[in-house]
Amino acid sequence: MTMEDRAKAHDDSSLEKAVAARRSAPRWRWITIGLIALLYLAFNSAPVLHTCRHLRLHRRPAIPQCPTQPEAIAPNSTWEPQEDDAEIELFAQRLSDAVKIPTMSFDDMDMDPRKDARFEIFNEMHAYLAKTYPVLHERFPPQKINTYGLLWTIPGRDASLRPALYLAHQDVVPVPASTLDQWTFPPFSGEYERYDDRRGGLVWGRGASDDKAMLTAVLSAFEELLKSGWENQRTILIGSGFDEEVSGPRGALSIAEALKASLPDRGRQTLEFVIDEGGLGVGVQQGGVEVALPAVAEKGYLDVTMTIKTPGGHSSMPPDHTSIGMMSSLIAHLESNPHEAMLTPANPVLTHLICMANALETKALQTVESENLLLDKQTRKDLRDPRKWHRVARRVAKLGSRTERYIVKTSQAADIVLGGVKANALPEHVEAVVNHRIAMESSVDEIKSRFEDLVRPVAERLGLKVVGFDKKAPDVKPEESVLMLTYGRFTEHTPVSPTDSAQFRALAGTIRQVFTTESGKHDRLVSPVIMTGNTDSRHFLSLCENVYRFNPNRYSEQSAKHTVNENMDVAAVAESASFFHALAQITDEKL
Ligand SMILES: [Zn+2]
Repeated sequence: MTMEDRAKAHDDSSLEKAVAARRSAPRWRWITIGLIALLYLAFNSAPVLHTCRHLRLHRRPAIPQCPTQPEAIAPNSTWEPQEDDAEIELFAQRLSDAVKIPTMSFDDMDMDPRKDARFEIFNEMHAYLAKTYPVLHERFPPQKINTYGLLWTIPGRDASLRPALYLAHQDVVPVPASTLDQWTFPPFSGEYERYDDRRGGLVWGRGASDDKAMLTAVLSAFEELLKSGWENQRTILIGSGFDEEVSGPRGALSIAEALKASLPDRGRQTLEFVIDEGGLGVGVQQGGVEVALPAVAEKGYLDVTMTIKTPGGHSSMPPDHTSIGMMSSLIAHLESNPHEAMLTPANPVLTHLICMANALETKALQTVESENLLLDKQTRKDLRDPRKWHRVARRVAKLGSRTERYIVKTSQAADIVLGGVKANALPEHVEAVVNHRIAMESSVDEIKSRFEDLVRPVAERLGLKVVGFDKKAPDVKPEESVLMLTYGRFTEHTPVSPTDSAQFRALAGTIRQVFTTESGKHDRLVSPVIMTGNTDSRHFLSLCENVYRFNPNRYSEQSAKHTVNENMDVAAVAESASFFHALAQITDEKL
């Protein structure tokens, strides 16, 4: 072939290619249009597909209904200590004295409470309780469970009625020494500060809110009922753990085991209902909606530990990335990939938002409509279309308060980092713990695999050999760098307690009776939420379906639980006692 021939051949083949390309152009165009259409469909139906995966349904999920709001239920006898100065002073005294006893729970306490002297303070707590609630203690002295757990039983006359369980824990979270100077009053002073302009005041100190307010309210209510000669049909159980703040393995768990051993085994029908701390209290939401928010479920929990092992050496000759630098990159990568917000019927928060939307719609909208309104007009519309729920979830995650943000997604937080001991030595061992509170749609396994998928490529780029979860720790050669993933404490999210049950209706009816709204009416919206944390009540889930976590308290959301200057309004505690006094009577018959 000559040069010319070659050039011609080349020209011919180019020509042929060009012709072929032109001929196939319409086909390509159709393929492109098809692809765009497919992508459009995929994006727009993504939330539905997602929902399907969780519900194992292949049709659009039904839109949850806000629970029917029951009429307020009046108890036979009404007790309103919150309206009486002398009673309020009594509540202040009771709460203040309880706060003065530093019943702290620490992570490293011995599993056997008899072997750890730090538990001995609970003896003082028991003596205080016996002195403060004499009628209850004399008639029905509590059983001591695993040394410091308390279980009171007030037997009912009708053995066919299932017992009701009231829970309130005795322990409190410790006060870090580094925060002591930030407290207005010393954390265990139990200082009572009266208001100048109205009845009552505040009790200051660790535990004033969590959970000694609830303990005071529950015990005061039953003390009052017994003093007044109340004769209950249904058996009342009052359980009080002593290590709730460290998950309750010694207290609540032992109480649950004791109940399992002594009550007729009816599985999750063994107890009529369980009421414990939690929920989002009694208050006013955006748009002026007056609510009470009992929690009907708790998110899951998982601690992941990342351990990096690298060769050590002198810090004058460091590698490009030290183990601390690598750990920082991994944590930064996790933080730049937060969990996605989602909303499906698996999460009772969807029901709550629908309740809120309904309530807003019935209000004079011109007065509540504003740009900042979380459930603005568009969002309320979106709530009625399952294909738009992901948009609502994203809005809640973006605009909601910090409490609200995580009721629609899994949280991740690097809480512990350990590594390095000397300024001139490369750290050989660095460890970080990342805590997760798992969304209702997800699971421990899903979070583990997502975590590994995220950190693996970053770790490998940094030259780390990755040992995934549940893999045997390898023999690491001294010159090797390794990232190991392990997990510690974990719990799946709890089942959801029903909101269409007689037990929920009794709870809601009592709430509407006791916690009248600003206008003095019995029309407070009772709406279910979930807890981002865990409570002692989860140890009783195998004994009961109707587990409600609810601080019947108008003040609890402002009380600085777990932090500096925890405090509690004493009239609010008295009102909580009024609530328990009513609830016990209202539920004292077949529900
Ligand atoms: Zn608590």
